[in-house]
Amino acid sequence: MPSHIVIENALIFDGMGREVFWGKIGIDGKNISYVEKDSARNNNSMREDCELIDASGYTVMPGLIDCHVHLVSPWNTKMHEPYWKLISSPSSKVLTAAANANRTLASGFTTVRNCGGTSWYLPEDVHVRDSIAADMLIGPRVWSSAGGITMTGGHGDRAYPAYMIQHPEIGCGVQPADGADACRHAVRERIKYGADFIKIYTTGGVSTPGDGPHSQDFTMDELRAIIDEAHSHEKRVGTHAQGLAGIRKAVLAGVDTVEHGSFLDTETADEMAHRGVFLVTTLRVFEEILKRGASYPNPDALRKAKMVCDAQRNALILAKDRGVTLAFGTDASQSIRNGDNAAELMELMTCGFSPMDILLMATRDAARAIGLQGKIGTVTEGQLADLILLQKNPLEDIGVLSERANIRCVMYEGNAKILRDGQGNEYQSACFPADAIRSILKLKA
Ligand SMILES: [Zn+2]
Repeated sequence: MPSHIVIENALIFDGMGREVFWGKIGIDGKNISYVEKDSARNNNSMREDCELIDASGYTVMPGLIDCHVHLVSPWNTKMHEPYWKLISSPSSKVLTAAANANRTLASGFTTVRNCGGTSWYLPEDVHVRDSIAADMLIGPRVWSSAGGITMTGGHGDRAYPAYMIQHPEIGCGVQPADGADACRHAVRERIKYGADFIKIYTTGGVSTPGDGPHSQDFTMDELRAIIDEAHSHEKRVGTHAQGLAGIRKAVLAGVDTVEHGSFLDTETADEMAHRGVFLVTTLRVFEEILKRGASYPNPDALRKAKMVCDAQRNALILAKDRGVTLAFGTDASQSIRNGDNAAELMELMTCGFSPMDILLMATRDAARAIGLQGKIGTVTEGQLADLILLQKNPLEDIGVLSERANIRCVMYEGNAKILRDGQGNEYQSACFPADAIRSILKLKA
């Protein structure tokens, strides 16, 4: 692929909150060098050595962003995920994460934030992130937590029988820390092992047997220490928080994103809006657990998903009403398969949000939530060229994104990596040349 590409005659959804428009997108190396509306066509901006991609009939939009996934997660096992982690070797966990990452990019998600669930001292998401960045693997940009931090007996730490001692290298996703000093130390360790952000747990939840969404994890002192330490290293902090008390405490302590936020109230939503704290959606995951019913390998999760499901929907509606910015997240793991992330887009429609609202959650606002605004999330000058080419305008039919066959091209940092022909065949490459794009997509030469 040449380093100068112009995509022309495309319907563009730029992720800036406005309607689609016809135009062209100039790409120079990894970045978008300009976006022009057709009415403002200026041929001077067209370099002689550029490759033209005539995208007539297609809609181009920013690559989707999922702010909450767990790449180190098996799909085709009946075993409860934490046990799978205990018995699996570090290398098989890395390979699982790599396969999940690949399936995710192929679904149009060009960035994911991996929210814990990795080994403490061999964080698989960091290895997968670095291999993708080094062009050894085809996958999305991974924004990695390099594991998570919980308290002893907190969410995640009670996923195993207490008599089982977790080997720190293959320990399972959450590092326990107690007391402000130990919490600071744990943040420093996560950063040392490659974290892009810090993931913590301020309440119990659904997936850990024995705890509940309303129990509170960490003291205010511990939370302040974690957040202060993370922020001093320019790392944002996201917290798993479902019960109101734990959400409120985290917000007052200065957290940047609340994951789930299931039992949010008006007062705390107002506080989040005031402080610019984002709420990460994760609605479908609880529905999915309920749908799987008795076949889901964690019966306690089934009981708790029933408690949370309606609350989660109400929390999202309330938050949006009160001016909290929602960011798209799925909790993709054993319950929603990595790569089926778009299911959350459809689920959010049941909250009464418009396709525009939902697409912004999964593009511009997701980028802001994870601190990557200015780099990804919109089709505007200077951004990385993470783009997807769709058969239909998603503002008219957001469902176009849930069928992978409709996502005809996924471009990551200016390189077309996934192509699909009209017959449902999928092709992958580190970088397809423009000829291959034209021929597989049957574009005008
Ligand atoms: Zn999660």
